Amino acid sequence: MKNKEKDYEKINEVQSLNKNACLQCGACVSACPMGAISFNEDGFPIVNKEMCIKCKTCVNICPVEAIKISD
Ligand code: SF4
Ligand code: SF4
Repeated sequence: MKNKEKDYEKINEVQSLNKNACLQCGACVSACPMGAISFNEDGFPIVNKEMCIKCKTCVNICPVEAIKISD
């Protein structure tokens, strides 16, 4: 599966998410060294832009490339 740019929704200044691709598995939530990701009420991972250090651990661990972090 290859995600297209238009499939990503900008969540905030640091995060974009492909909600159709996201498995809501929580791997990114568990892997973030800063504890910066939490689930929203719909079960999607949301990055706290104040806490994120842009290490991209979440991007690398996601099995479906659903999450993107800005440079
Ligand atoms: S880039 Fe790093 S600090 Fe930011 S949300 Fe992802 S894992 Fe957490
Ligand atoms: S690791 Fe990927 S598929 Fe799993 S919850 Fe995070 S963004 Fe969604």
